This record gives sequence, C-alpha cells and structure tokens, in this order.
Amino acid sequence: MRFQVDFDQQPLLVIWEVTRACALACRHCRASAIDQRDPNELSLEEGCRLLDEVKELGTPIVVLSGGDPLQREDLEDLIAYGKSIGLRMGTIPAGTPRLSRERLASLQASGVDQVAFSIDAPNAADHDGFRQVPGSFDLTLQGARWAGELGIPLQINTVFHQGNRHQIRELCSLVQSLNIVFWEVFFLVPTGRGSELQGCSAAEMEEIFAELYALNQSADFVIKVTEAQQYRRFVQQQEGRRSAHSPLREIGARRGHPGSIGRSSRVVNAGSGFCFIDHVGKICPSGFLPLERGNVRQHRLADVYRSDELFVQLRDPLLLKGKCSRCEYKRDCGGSRSRAWALSGDPFAEEPFCVLER
Ligand code: SF4
Repeated sequence: MRFQVDFDQQPLLVIWEVTRACALACRHCRASAIDQRDPNELSLEEGCRLLDEVKELGTPIVVLSGGDPLQREDLEDLIAYGKSIGLRMGTIPAGTPRLSRERLASLQASGVDQVAFSIDAPNAADHDGFRQVPGSFDLTLQGARWAGELGIPLQINTVFHQGNRHQIRELCSLVQSLNIVFWEVFFLVPTGRGSELQGCSAAEMEEIFAELYALNQSADFVIKVTEAQQYRRFVQQQEGRRSAHSPLREIGARRGHPGSIGRSSRVVNAGSGFCFIDHVGKICPSGFLPLERGNVRQHRLADVYRSDELFVQLRDPLLLKGKCSRCEYKRDCGGSRSRAWALSGDPFAEEPFCVLER
C-alpha cells in the first residue's frame, strides 16, 4: 500500500513509544530501555486522544513501539481504537517470554495490520549477545512462525553496525525464509546505548546497499532502509537516474507486497514525513533525533509538526550543510539528520557516512 501525503502537512507515520519498559537490554537501544514501566507514561485515555490527533493530522500509519509494547496490557485497546478511527496500526513486540501465540492472536483480534520483530544476527549466539538475554533469538523465530500460522503480516527489523555488517548475506537468507512482507534495515545511529557501538563506515554501507539492491531484484517483500537515506542515491546511481529532480520511482520490492503496512515514494527523514512521540508524550522529529519540541499533554501535534521551527527547517533541503548542501541528490536523500546530529550536535550538518563528494 502506497500513500501520497504532503510532508509539510502531515507525517507518513507517527511512532509512539508506548512504554520504555523492556526485559531485553539491547546494545544498540535508542531508548536505553529499562525493566520497569514509568508511572508517568501516557495513559490509555491520553493515548486515544493522541490517536485522534494523528487521524486529524491526516497521517495514515501509527506504529506502537517501545521498549516492549507487550508490557502494556492495554496495547490491544490502543490498536483497536486506532483501527476504529481508520488508522493503519503496527507494533514491535520484543522477543521475550511475553511473546506468546495467545498474545499474538489477541493482537490480531484487535485488528493489528502488521507486527515487527527484530533480528540482528543470523544465529542465536550473536543475536542473544546483542540483546544481552539468552533465548531471545529462538523466541523471535517462534514468534515469526506463529505470526505466519495466524496470518499476521510480518515485518523484520535489523540494525547494521560494525558487529554484524559481515553477516549481511546470511541475514538476507534468513529474512527470505521467514515469509515476511517488509524488511526494515536500520543503520546504527549512535544514540542511547547505541552510542557505545560503532556504526558502519561509508564504504561498508555501500557494500550492504549493494546486497540489498541485489536482493530487491527478486524479493517479494518491501525492503525499507532507515537512517541511511543515501541508499536512494545509491539506487539512482545504479539505475542511471542522476538528476536531483527525477524522483525515485521505486524503492523497496520490485512488486511490493499488498499486505504491507504502507510506504511512500518520498524520502522519509526526521521531522519530514516522520514524527516520534516518547513514552511520556514528548514530541520529537525522530526517536534517533530526540530533541523535544513539545508534549502531547500540552500541545497539538499538528501545530508542532507543521509550525515548530525545527520541524519546518528539517523539511528544507536548502538548509543542509557541508557536502549534502552541494549534492545533486539532496532533495531525494539529504542524509540522516539523526546521525548528523548524533555525531556533530548539528542536525543540518553533512551526513558523516556517505561516500559521495561533489
Ligand atoms: S552527500 Fe548527503 S545528500 Fe548527497 S548522497 Fe550523500 S548523504 Fe545524500
């Protein structure tokens, strides 16, 4: 499903971190998740009000993230409410003992459109080492099987960094075996606990892009690359479309998948097509660019997204600096604003890991 939205007016998707509590301790965790729920989390009532605001904004997709969303017993109520007002609803359960066939069936009964699980290595030892909890890999694969049996559209999320970049081919094989509709490939942004890890270099990212591009020629699922907007430049170079004014026709699977939650032909970036709400209601351009620009408890989401100075500036490619400012791809790419901020303190600085120099 492809959506056409005006990124100056509404994000394509809103990610709401419904809780920061999680039994895992992933080494890359943006949220630096903790094991107890915060009593100040947005309540069910506040959450439903937020979903109303998202609907009014014209945003089609909401993803309930964490932490581990399964730590909230009202997760199904939130999904059902979002569905009742016409939103596409996804969620990202963690691979812990809370993930059961019964809970997945309950999510399905609430109307969830897509469920995402995280897999960061092609084997249990590496994945569990990264998640810092034994058994997480097996639970996640079991969850993927249950989702398949139940007929829930399945997404896999993978974060690439120095520790797993050499496993790209094995990871491609693994995700192909899981009957998924969507593979979201993240490149590490050094925030939260992830600031202790090392990301891929610009050249290493190009190697992974090449593998993803090759897989994309045959995969019947969407491949979405997150926090490496320069993948769009890579694809344009491969396909010989070099004009900055020639929008990409297709990023993702050649045929796409009718069951996937949805996507856009425009590049999504922090504050541009994307908005993040944290567990206590802070409104930020992205979870990886956690600069608070308001709180849903005091501010209208539409006002912040459309009019806040930082949000408006993040949608203006003319404000990019360094080599991104000189780049012919800046309108279709623009680099990761989150990584630029994480490594320089300036969200408009050049993308630190792009091979292109013009
Ligand atoms: S220089 Fe910046 S805008 Fe150009 S392709 Fe690289 S990251 Fe994208």
